[in-house]
Amino acid sequence: MEEEEGEEYLFKVVIIGDSAVGKSNLLSRYARNEFNPNSKATIGVEFQTQSMEINGKEVKAQIWDTAGQERFRAVTSAYYRGAVGALIVYDISRRTTFDNVTRWLEELKTHSDTTVSRILVGNKCDLVDIRDVSVEEGKALAEAEGLFFMETSALDSTNVKAAFEIVIREIYNNVSRKVL
Ligand code: GDP
Ligand code: MG
Repeated sequence: MEEEEGEEYLFKVVIIGDSAVGKSNLLSRYARNEFNPNSKATIGVEFQTQSMEINGKEVKAQIWDTAGQERFRAVTSAYYRGAVGALIVYDISRRTTFDNVTRWLEELKTHSDTTVSRILVGNKCDLVDIRDVSVEEGKALAEAEGLFFMETSALDSTNVKAAFEIVIREIYNNVSRKVL
């Protein structure tokens, strides 16, 4: 199929995971290069649109943040609707957040009617002294579930851009394959 000039790509990506793992800060670091040391959960869903260039094309991702709803187990189907990418985030210094990854994956699967490009994100990798989940455990889970994997730090910016862009690139590749 021939591509029209100025063709636009806009993909919905969701960030999920337990409360306080750093979802909002990953998004603010990626979209605005900002970090907020105080956790303040906002009520309601928020999203940010971020562009990247792939093969000379502008690809936009509309990235959704649960904005505190996960505290009340109230992430609704509207949140997941139309999502083609997901970052499943845990905190490397809190094992319970890693144990709950399976639950988040199940929820994502329940609400998805399409292939979702997924990455497992072990955030707060700057907290080496109080690490509670090893890199190997993260990698092993990702491999078992067929996910990309990366450890990140929204605090010091490690791998934040890379984690979002690996997902967006994969979505783009899936779409391109379908078109051809
Ligand atoms: P959310 O509930 O998943 O959206 O988590 P937040 O983004 O609100 O972050 C929760 C808390 O963890 C806040 O106090 C953040 O400052 C802190 N935090 C987030 N990311 C990091 C990180 O990469 N490293 C460290 N040390 N703290 C972080
Ligand atoms: Mg948040």
